[in-house]
Amino acid sequence: MSDKKNDKLVIQNIGLLLSGDLEKPILDADTLVVVDGRIAEVGKAAEVDTGNAAVTVDAKGTAVTPGLIDSHVHPVFGDWTPRQSQLNWIDSFLNGGVTTMISAGEVHLPGRPKDIVGLKALAVTAQRAFFNMRPGGVKVHAGAPVIEKGMVEEDFKQMAESGVKLLGEVGLGGVKQGEEAKQMVAWARKYGIQSTIHTGGPSIPGSGLIDADVVLEADADVIGHINGGHTALPLDQIRCLCEQCTRAVEIVHNGNELAGLYAMRTTMELGQTERIILGTDSPAGSGVQPLGILRMIALLSSVGEVPAETVFCFATGNTARMRELDCGLIEVGRAADFVIMDRAQHTAGKDLLDSVRLGDLPGISMVIIDGVVRCRRSRNTPPATTLAEVL
Ligand SMILES: [Zn+2]
Repeated sequence: MSDKKNDKLVIQNIGLLLSGDLEKPILDADTLVVVDGRIAEVGKAAEVDTGNAAVTVDAKGTAVTPGLIDSHVHPVFGDWTPRQSQLNWIDSFLNGGVTTMISAGEVHLPGRPKDIVGLKALAVTAQRAFFNMRPGGVKVHAGAPVIEKGMVEEDFKQMAESGVKLLGEVGLGGVKQGEEAKQMVAWARKYGIQSTIHTGGPSIPGSGLIDADVVLEADADVIGHINGGHTALPLDQIRCLCEQCTRAVEIVHNGNELAGLYAMRTTMELGQTERIILGTDSPAGSGVQPLGILRMIALLSSVGEVPAETVFCFATGNTARMRELDCGLIEVGRAADFVIMDRAQHTAGKDLLDSVRLGDLPGISMVIIDGVVRCRRSRNTPPATTLAEVL
């Protein structure tokens, strides 16, 4: 499929339109109009201009959600990961509804440079490489340097001027003390670079423990995998992180499920649901999970007893707002990234939301990025009961 954006794309007969917005997770509309890769109109068929579309998609009464965002991945280069020696893993995530990924550091690169010149060069190279090439069409925001001792303000200024917009997980490099991390996170923030921090026990031999005191002192924008990657902090420390700061609460698939559910409930009890965002933290020792974000949605909705339409917001609008992305919400002007899905065949759920509430995964029938159809019936989800169709 080409990267060319269609002039105009219409999706009609939408049975359920999920907005990604916690304030109003379900929209009263059945038609989306996209012009040049952006959402141009959202409404009822009779109210919007569907004429002269280059592509018309019939959703056949099924559901549309904003493309899913994976807030925590570890890409390397292209669609290859050395962690589990896999090819085309990003394309597989596309088949799981993921349209945007955010790097928490290209830490799996064999021979990754740890000297300051080298780590800066890698960050710039990774940012460029993924900007220039989107595996499967997926938007991978990469170029996330892992900070090391000895970095000075000028390093952050230089990286920002070179296009670096993210820090890799603080704590994966030599900087593990709160005070030192705090200074570098502040420099990063000053130049518009967003930060995340490793939370919990070591993930693989060679990484270390970051406890709640260090996370709070460092004050990164995202409490990376608050439920551990995989070893979680004690629950009282997780409560502390939820209560004592307002940073994003990131829950990941490759973490501790009990701690993830606890972090979600605690944040919701505080009335701060908008802080909850989802990631997979893959590729990792636990593997590569193309359906990881969908599995998180099903877990948090079913075992966590939260309405499915709310949990979809965690993986779309919440992440988009926390990460300052132009996608993730069904809103005029936003990037036209969508997943069309239906209840899976033979689920006990009576409709899509009910099936997710019962812990089943949806069946994806189409994924659209910037108004371009990128994947038809998913090769990875259970088959959808009804499939959307390009007319
Ligand atoms: Zn980590």
